[in-house]
Amino acid sequence: MKNKKQAVVIFSGGQDSTTCLFWAKQQYEEVIAVSFDYGQRHKKELECAAGLARTYGVEHHIFDLSLLNQLTPNSLTREEILVDKEAPEEGTPNSFVEGRNMVFLTYAAIFAKQRGITDLITGVSQSDFSGYPDCRDIFIKSLNTTLNLAMDYEFDIITPLMWIDKEETWAMADELGVMEIIHDKTLTCYNGIPGDGCGECPACKLRRRGYDRYINRRSSS
Ligand code: ZN
Repeated sequence: MKNKKQAVVIFSGGQDSTTCLFWAKQQYEEVIAVSFDYGQRHKKELECAAGLARTYGVEHHIFDLSLLNQLTPNSLTREEILVDKEAPEEGTPNSFVEGRNMVFLTYAAIFAKQRGITDLITGVSQSDFSGYPDCRDIFIKSLNTTLNLAMDYEFDIITPLMWIDKEETWAMADELGVMEIIHDKTLTCYNGIPGDGCGECPACKLRRRGYDRYINRRSSS
């Protein structure tokens, strides 16, 4: 029995947001996915998202946010900037897109309100936040308050992955019965390779480490 009506999921087609999408499908009668085209180097990301939404019967919208790319050149949007292999000692990695989660959630909120929806779901995680300040719980709570004040509305930003790491995210996918889909059909890799990815970039390493740990744990229990 689904106890809630509708939710909007911020959906990139990666491991985290796809896990959240399936989680939401279990909780809500209707789930709408929104993705953003900000000139990411890998159009494949949006293709993955669109393909998954189509296959699993989820209404999907892709909004144009090319302005974000104009304002913040970084390694996820520019060919000539190579992704940092390791996180820098200070500051954010060069894969950080300034303001991205704030902008995404804000536009998703505007869209949701038009449809009379209050619940916004995002796959950010403070546990694996890779130095991205806009994945922290304090930021999400702060933005939630701001959005409510900005639009005089009771938004509820829901973060199912906030306190769990990649290993636990795989466990969640397994519980939802979608581990294979997440493994084969999502794209997390900074080099734009779906599934197992390039194996070299920080996103692939994080994803792989979590996967191996979960598989080991499952087989030893
Ligand atoms: Zn990769």
